[in-house]
Amino acid sequence: MFKRGKSEEEKSYTNKPTPKIWLNQEAAHSDPLSLKYTPTSLLDSKLTKNYITVELRLAPILDYCSGIWGFSRSLNIESVQHRALRYFLGVHRFTPILSLQGESGWVPAYCRHQLNAIRFWNRLITMSDDRLTKKVFVWDKEQSNRSNWSNNMKRLFDSLDLADVYDNCAIYDLAQVESRIYRNFVNTWHEDLQNISKLRTYRVIKHDFQTEPYIIMDLPKPERSVMAMLRCGILPLRIETGRYSGEPVEERICNFCDKNDVEDERHFIFHCSLYETIRNNFLVKIESQNISTFDDNFFS
Ligand SMILES: [Zn+2]
Repeated sequence: MFKRGKSEEEKSYTNKPTPKIWLNQEAAHSDPLSLKYTPTSLLDSKLTKNYITVELRLAPILDYCSGIWGFSRSLNIESVQHRALRYFLGVHRFTPILSLQGESGWVPAYCRHQLNAIRFWNRLITMSDDRLTKKVFVWDKEQSNRSNWSNNMKRLFDSLDLADVYDNCAIYDLAQVESRIYRNFVNTWHEDLQNISKLRTYRVIKHDFQTEPYIIMDLPKPERSVMAMLRCGILPLRIETGRYSGEPVEERICNFCDKNDVEDERHFIFHCSLYETIRNNFLVKIESQNISTFDDNFFS
């Protein structure tokens, strides 16, 4: 009988991650500017070294000189950031990008780049007219019907509903720009979340775009990885693995108990008999800490 080979996605469960240690998780951080998108509270925590360091080592490289070219979006740069997130979370390459972003609370690199481009614009506007750089800028802006820097900045301002800033050669408050860029991204992120079937559980439990607490705890990587896989809908439960062979969802029944339920995240956490002892011990433990919301309603 023909035996179906493993799909690329299926293999990724069994293959160990192939981290290239170009992200030194133990290195000390030194550049506070690249913490722009890291919640301030993290900076005080001694438990966040790995999380912060990954971003610190990465952002200055990905954003280098982006004041000049930050109006454009680079898929290659975004893919490097995604790869770093996957490595940090311990998840495979088929993990939905929306969940990588949501778990880490990292906005895409283009958000930082756009902000840097507008920061550079502000510098040029306030620069003395006798500076050579300013003269080049004025000349470039006069030619802005061409595909030059000024023309690209015009498009960027238009996309942010700030056309008048460009037309009037005004400076614009960076905090407001940052807020606008962030808000645009997060709105799109929420909309896109509804369209990824793999994120069936994620969109129920994830309401706000922010860094999840387990990310900033100093968890061993295997634990962080399992948590991320469960939340991102890629833990090899039958609801996921049944997809590889094209099984209808209602036939992806749990093989470990006789409840005849689809083995999805809800069944795995709350109902499967196989884990009853572990579950009960865990419930006793968390009830002793006055956590009362851990039940099936968590998913509703
Ligand atoms: Zn079961």
